[in-house]
Amino acid sequence: MNDSQRLADPGIHLYDFATHFIVHCPKCAGKAHVNPVGDNFPKYGNFQGVEWRLVCTACFHVETTGHWYGAATAFVSVKCRECHAPLRRSAPWNGLWKKLAMHCETCGDDCEYEAQISQHPFHEGRKTDPVFGLPLWLQKEFRDDLFWAYNYEHLGLLRQYIGAKLRERGIEPRNTIRKNSAMLSRLPEFMKKAANRNGLLKLIEHLERQ
Ligand SMILES: [Zn+2]
Ligand SMILES: [Zn+2]
Repeated sequence: MNDSQRLADPGIHLYDFATHFIVHCPKCAGKAHVNPVGDNFPKYGNFQGVEWRLVCTACFHVETTGHWYGAATAFVSVKCRECHAPLRRSAPWNGLWKKLAMHCETCGDDCEYEAQISQHPFHEGRKTDPVFGLPLWLQKEFRDDLFWAYNYEHLGLLRQYIGAKLRERGIEPRNTIRKNSAMLSRLPEFMKKAANRNGLLKLIEHLERQ
């Protein structure tokens, strides 16, 4: 056993990698980078007040935060403005409107209500970034599962983890605090299986060249 086969679980959480994303450009499907701009940077997965900019390396398209390209659901759960009967409805959201037309079966009233939008992390079977909802550049099917990474640093850590023959848990005291939420321990089963190791390493090597 040499050192390169050991990997002490550094207590890294997935949100530690959610600081920038590599995606398919919405205009040309080429490789685009999504990075924070300005003074605010994402912390612990909190994007509040963070401005993002997409820059395509192929067609040079530039876009700032605003449009959601991914899958999303709009839903309304209110009381009818006329008769106070409970009204509920959900519908796929196309990124434009934020109101849902509602019909009250009790009193016959028709009205539009403000909808809550919930954005989905996947779109048409592909993992998307949390800013624009565009398909991640670094992803590939592995048998029945989908392997994906936000960026090359994330991919590198996954390679390290999957390549390690021995996985050790937090030795440093700070690791015990975040032990249960550690990303590595919560990786999907297919990434932890020894039988998948060589196949996954090959896939990662392929993605690293993209
Ligand atoms: Zn482009
Ligand atoms: Zn009503």
